[in-house]
Amino acid sequence: MKTKSKFPKKEVILEGMPTSPGIAMGPVYIFNPYPINISELESEAKDPRQEILLFDRARRRVLEQLKFAQENSETSYGDKFSDIFETQQAFLNDQVLMDEIKKAIQEKAQSAVHVVAEILAQKSDYFINLENTYFRERAFDIIDLKQKLILALVGINIDYQLSRPSIVLAESLSPSDTVHFNRKFILGFLTDKGGKTAHATILARGLRIPAVVNRISLSKLVNRNDFIIIDGFKGTIIINPTDETLEKYQRLQQHYQNLDKDLIETAGQKAVTPDGQEIQLLVNIELPNEVDDNKNYFADGIGLFRTENIFLQHNYEPDEETQFQIYTKIVEKNAPDPVVIRTIDVGGDKMIEGFGPQRELNPYLGWRAIRFCLDRPEIFKTQLRAILRASVLGNVIILIPMVSSLEEVVQTKALIQEAQNELKAKNLRFNDNVPLGIMIETPAAAIYADIFARHVDYFSIGTNDLTQYVLAIDRTNDRVARYYNSFNPAVLLLMHKTIQAAKKRNIAVSICGEFGALPEAIAVLLGMGLRSFSMSPQFIPRAKKVIRSLDTRKCVDLFNEVKKLNTSIQVEQKCREFVRELIPDLNSRD
Ligand code: PEP
Ligand code: MG
Repeated sequence: MKTKSKFPKKEVILEGMPTSPGIAMGPVYIFNPYPINISELESEAKDPRQEILLFDRARRRVLEQLKFAQENSETSYGDKFSDIFETQQAFLNDQVLMDEIKKAIQEKAQSAVHVVAEILAQKSDYFINLENTYFRERAFDIIDLKQKLILALVGINIDYQLSRPSIVLAESLSPSDTVHFNRKFILGFLTDKGGKTAHATILARGLRIPAVVNRISLSKLVNRNDFIIIDGFKGTIIINPTDETLEKYQRLQQHYQNLDKDLIETAGQKAVTPDGQEIQLLVNIELPNEVDDNKNYFADGIGLFRTENIFLQHNYEPDEETQFQIYTKIVEKNAPDPVVIRTIDVGGDKMIEGFGPQRELNPYLGWRAIRFCLDRPEIFKTQLRAILRASVLGNVIILIPMVSSLEEVVQTKALIQEAQNELKAKNLRFNDNVPLGIMIETPAAAIYADIFARHVDYFSIGTNDLTQYVLAIDRTNDRVARYYNSFNPAVLLLMHKTIQAAKKRNIAVSICGEFGALPEAIAVLLGMGLRSFSMSPQFIPRAKKVIRSLDTRKCVDLFNEVKKLNTSIQVEQKCREFVRELIPDLNSRD
């Protein structure tokens, strides 16, 4: 913990943009990412013996880094984090594993980087699929370790392994960086750039890590040993706080933790409005190990599993069996509740090194999501087969991202049929009647919702992208963040059109964008007739409180008022006033 003598600098208070709720305080860790595209590295080893020597050297270097990090950590934290370092060192000292890697280099004449990436990914997959939480967490230690070994092999010095809990400060963070840190050491993320709906931010929220975007290149200005407080509710950043400020934020942190506890305690109640309308509340999950979050938060199922994160964690394409295991676990744990599995949404800000689209000039308008999948039918069908097999075990809906034309739906159906035929040929069991849904996140999909509704069984409104595409505002660019507002009447009009189309054709409709978790958004969406919401698990208790306080007939009146307004600000204000009046004690932290 901070002491005055250790940080005798002047307090600086700045206003940034809050992106993931929570208050964090601690020493700063300045992170300089360096992307490596493994697929661009030579995979063939001309001289396997030389590769083995390189591997031995990298192994020794990582062991030294780990010992150093452990010593550093022990000086301040005793043995609190020793299991992480010990697990990683144990893996590097495991003769069987080391021999397996060397044998693969020798026999396949493959480079050490490729072999390490493949074998350690298999190991982390194995751990991630175990029941026991302790063992599942080991998967993250292996993912860390793999990254360290690869960096040591290519001679790059980036450390994802923090030796003490820190606020990670970086110019920007990719989703892949976000998952490569060990969670136990990250107190918060502070980035120079980023947006509220950037995928790295959504992951941070999924991992319950407070985050703020500073917008002023703090990563170049802050000193290595500065102490920082970030307020992920308001966006405040405090560098080298006085003892008085520090105490104030410690009290605030405690206060918020207590509020969360209170909300969670009442979260077991049903999500029913005072006029008796039952609302479905689902959770968005980012990583397979969040599988229990649905139950923990008393939700009704999983409304969005962003499967691309499995690929992102591994930097490679997991095979059908691995994916099947992951989906099976999630589906079984949630049965009979629904599990909406979204097929790979790569591209945009999700560039996966060694897999999928690479850098493009306009990535959000580029080779993304369903476009990528239809161009790579083998990758797509592998995933579809795995999902179809898992779907016999529960209630699965397949969801396709970024649809903008009917042909994409038709082609996807044809590939699902092919995947089914392939499973049949192998005598593997599958559900031949899995509902197919589409994300409504392009203007084309929303405008044409009535037509799409005749061809699919489910709509999920993706406001993160819908807003960026309707308003032509990059969701990751903080410079234009003030224009990015889902309360914009044009965006709301398309949401309403989508809900109406679903109702008319009698198909299910939900919302899974970040907007749907805001109390004032819930009010207006209930007014539009929406009865299902999917959101990050930590927002479920608050959403439940909101739903239990809002009469849907009053929400219809609100929507009728909103329709007369022409600007985002007016709409947002109207909705906010409405919620504040009906739920005065709502904790309006964000
Ligand atoms: C969305 O676009 O609203 C959405 C939920 O998908 P993602 O954030 O993964 O792009
Ligand atoms: Mg999207």
